[in-house]
Amino acid sequence: MTVVKNPRPRSGDQSIGDALLRCRVLPALAFNKHQCSIVWKIDPQDAFIRRHFGWSNKSTCWASVPHVVKAIGYDADPRDRCRAGKSHGKDSPGCVNWYPLIEWEINREACSDIIAAAGLPVPPKSSCVFCPSMQKAEIDELARTEPDNFGLAIAVEDGAVERGLESVKGLGRGFSWRSYASESAPMDVRMVLAYHDHRVGLSPALQHVDDETLLRAIQQHPDLSFVDFLRQERRRRPSGRCGPCDGRIADPDRARPTVSI
Ligand code: SF4
Repeated sequence: MTVVKNPRPRSGDQSIGDALLRCRVLPALAFNKHQCSIVWKIDPQDAFIRRHFGWSNKSTCWASVPHVVKAIGYDADPRDRCRAGKSHGKDSPGCVNWYPLIEWEINREACSDIIAAAGLPVPPKSSCVFCPSMQKAEIDELARTEPDNFGLAIAVEDGAVERGLESVKGLGRGFSWRSYASESAPMDVRMVLAYHDHRVGLSPALQHVDDETLLRAIQQHPDLSFVDFLRQERRRRPSGRCGPCDGRIADPDRARPTVSI
């Protein structure tokens, strides 16, 4: 398998995440546009195809070349059928799009069954970690299973808000992920946001969290590197106080007694 990317030599952006953080904007889908998908997914594939076949950049030269078939994994559920319908006639020059799952009437549930029957782990829905199409349950899942990536999404949203975002409230379009995760999300998700804020020195959120809740959440998310952060803070501040939380959990060994570090 060849993975293609679209690094930007001028700006230095290696990914859509880099670009969003640097420009302090949300993905285009937050405004019902699809440029992010075009620039970071379709364009790199097309550039690879051109390079691979030695095609010129002028599409008029491609009339005589054999078509490349792009197999696209839209499934047979109505939502993906609709997306495939909207893509009709928009194939990249020199390519034809093919939707095998729709052709074979395989929906998302059937895909999961086939993968599980093969003894493989069923992967989660694939998308960027800051995709505005994510539902609240998916945001919760992201925070629980990939707290660092959840923090990246929050950083993207914060950057856009600081820059003066007006037309939408945040990554959720009608709501901001930050307000959702700090106000109405389940407690463990709120904790992950508190960790993120604490790590980047954004707010004294942890002042309001009792130690028992904190310990439980730290144990549930050992990959947060939160304890390492506290260690660094303790080294940096001889008094042992860690700033945002005012020293309440400044001792990492006390904060996470059951985990060896
Ligand atoms: S997954 Fe979402 S954010 Fe990522 S490129 Fe696609 S539409 Fe844009």
